Amino acid sequence: MQATPPSTPPEKVHCYPCPSCGAHLLFEPRDGFLSCPYCGHKEAIPESADQVQERSFEQYLQIRPEQLEQLAANALEVRCQSCGATVTFTPPEVAGQCDFCGVQIVAQPKSADPILAPEGVLPFRFTQREAETGLRQWLQSRWFAPNALKQFARPDAINGVYLPFWTYDAYTTSYYAGERGEHYYTSETYSERDSQGREVTRTRQVRHTRWSPATGEVARWFDDVLVAATTSLPQKRLEALEPWDLTELKPYDPAFLSGFRAQRYQVDLAQGFEHVKQFAAGVIKGDVRQAIGGDEQRIHNIATHYSGVTFKHLLLPVYAGAYRFNQKVFQIVVNGRTGEIQGDRPYSFWKIALLVGTIALILVIVVGVLSSAKG
Ligand SMILES: [Zn+2]
Ligand SMILES: [Zn+2]
Repeated sequence: MQATPPSTPPEKVHCYPCPSCGAHLLFEPRDGFLSCPYCGHKEAIPESADQVQERSFEQYLQIRPEQLEQLAANALEVRCQSCGATVTFTPPEVAGQCDFCGVQIVAQPKSADPILAPEGVLPFRFTQREAETGLRQWLQSRWFAPNALKQFARPDAINGVYLPFWTYDAYTTSYYAGERGEHYYTSETYSERDSQGREVTRTRQVRHTRWSPATGEVARWFDDVLVAATTSLPQKRLEALEPWDLTELKPYDPAFLSGFRAQRYQVDLAQGFEHVKQFAAGVIKGDVRQAIGGDEQRIHNIATHYSGVTFKHLLLPVYAGAYRFNQKVFQIVVNGRTGEIQGDRPYSFWKIALLVGTIALILVIVVGVLSSAKG
């Protein structure tokens, strides 16, 4: 039986055959061209005149099917049976090992489900080889790392994958109620004994706070608040990869995906906005304190109204890999723009025990030599 090809109109199929040899053109981070890995043919990705658009949050909260698209017309996706991450890719890229938990993915890739398509992409600038070289140096500088972890140094232990992010813009108006505290001082007399033991009366300044009610309104623009839409990597690790040069964002084009994977978002648009609110609450609290003024502030209530909320779905480039050791998953992630490496730093029990043991032995010898010299 023959498999029927997906019924996509041919002009919409995003694959990039090399005009000289017919192989697949892949995105080349070094120069940003589509390049043939076999004959070296290069092609520029057409410069889009479009700006990376922001979309209205409200219009996308209840998503309609026509608002969803595939990352590329021939995109496949596969879900990791172990950690649940779903990655999209285009042939000839294959599923292989999960970039986030290290298991071999056994599921058959299927045609990718449509998603809220990304508006922007930050293309890879570091190549896989450069990332691997950086990783080898990083691992060598970690003497205590278990030998098993050094398997990360093997080629293809990390893979290029675009991580999903949301960014939001919003205007906030916040009404607050609180109290302004102003310091004042009074003189107080007290008695104590002097050095000769005589009782003497002295005065001192004592600080008090006078509280008065304060209510009002503060407003501010939040611009491009970045929220990770992946839960496959810990938040602290993602933050440590920053900063991202978001001024270099390109309008999304399936050509950037050629030779790489992209993770499907796990945090949806509405959940992402809850992170924005949490972040904004901290900033607004600072604004309210400043507006209340005085020496101390009490905040009883802040009611914030959001308006003009817009968002972008972005793909940001990393090389990621995971390795299992002692039933634990060790993740390594490399910023595909800056080469910054973040990863677990496990310590080998035996290597530390050996070091401690060696130091103890040296001490015993030194003490032995010293005491025999005395005696
Ligand atoms: Zn070629
Ligand atoms: Zn996984």
